[in-house]
Amino acid sequence: MPRASPTFVHLDADAFFVGVECALNPALRGKKVAVGGGTRGIIASASYEARACGVHTPMPTAQALRICPDLVLVGGGETHCGGMPRYIEFSRKLFDLCAEVTPLVERRSIDEGFMDLGPCGFADTAAIEAAMRGLQQRIADKIGLSVSFGLAANKLLSAISSKRNKPHGFTIVPPGTEEEFLAPLPVGVLPGVGPRTESLLKSNGIVRVGDIPRQPESLLAHILGNAWREFRDMARGVDESQLSLEHREAKSYSQQETFPRDIRDFSEILRITKRMIDELLPQIRADGKRARTLTVKVRYPGMHDDVAGHSLPEAADLEDAFYGLAETLLRQAWRRTRSPLRLVMVRFSGIETPSAQLELFPEKAGDLERKRRLASVVDALNQGIPRIMRGHGIGKPGSPRPEPGAPAPKITPPPKTP
Ligand SMILES: [Mg+2]
Repeated sequence: MPRASPTFVHLDADAFFVGVECALNPALRGKKVAVGGGTRGIIASASYEARACGVHTPMPTAQALRICPDLVLVGGGETHCGGMPRYIEFSRKLFDLCAEVTPLVERRSIDEGFMDLGPCGFADTAAIEAAMRGLQQRIADKIGLSVSFGLAANKLLSAISSKRNKPHGFTIVPPGTEEEFLAPLPVGVLPGVGPRTESLLKSNGIVRVGDIPRQPESLLAHILGNAWREFRDMARGVDESQLSLEHREAKSYSQQETFPRDIRDFSEILRITKRMIDELLPQIRADGKRARTLTVKVRYPGMHDDVAGHSLPEAADLEDAFYGLAETLLRQAWRRTRSPLRLVMVRFSGIETPSAQLELFPEKAGDLERKRRLASVVDALNQGIPRIMRGHGIGKPGSPRPEPGAPAPKITPPPKTP
């Protein structure tokens, strides 16, 4: 049964990537703005003004520009991943503000999460609402982001209700009204009901959530399989899941870039690849992690991909461990050398938390530690420097560019991907 009082809050930032861009450049506010991958990528986030013009995610950027010619694209014609370090920084600040209200915060994605205010000692729903409206205002004042909240007696209802009145929405589902709240909504609002299930339900006359509990069990089982009881519980507003509070560790760090035009020049692609490494390694260092495996993927104009990867004997977090490897992997991945490239992706995986006692080469540890300390100082200095300037600014310690004829690292062929 639903809980007696609504203490679950779902937070969903409004047009998060665009929101961050507007917070960094307030002149963009109120305009038709989108974060997208140049003229050949996709729209990753669109302002509500752009949405009113028909722009949505993930629409091809070229199509968005056709239907909305005065659309302001941010991100310098590169993918939204170019701004990812900034987005991660804003996400951290957002959830830090939430944690000032309750220790029970579950991050579900970069811009969505749950809070449980049950243990916080609020007297009643009015007190919880006041606290949440205060938080909504602090988020706007301190980091310049607009967020929407849904307050309900369980996670399911809070997540569905936060989407009902965006942007800057605040929806409360009073306890006892869960089923009534859900009944008129399309079945697609239920988690797990994708476009295929939705059309299957619709073809059986089940259009609204309220249609589900009325159906014979045999029909629900036929359409929804073994999970039919869970869907029927959800449709009745029943959800007893609790917040999942264990820290979800990143399993990989990746970035990709779709080029505004196909590129044939190896050195130009190598430069882009190294720039992505320069942006990912500070994130890995900031999380106190190291990576063992580097993978480079290339995409040709016909959308075919080739990939190459290599694992180091020991996890690393400094540029000099990866620059030479990136060059070798790029050469190996770019098998169809006659074809230009449309996209390149870099991924670090095999993420490890370093243990000071487990250095393979203890005699080198002092030198590595010195380089790491320098790298973290440079990371801190680079925060706040626009990325376009970084190449001309402070160089990374321990990141000598490999000599043109330097011996290449030994490469293990990547596993065949289906
Ligand atoms: Mg959002």
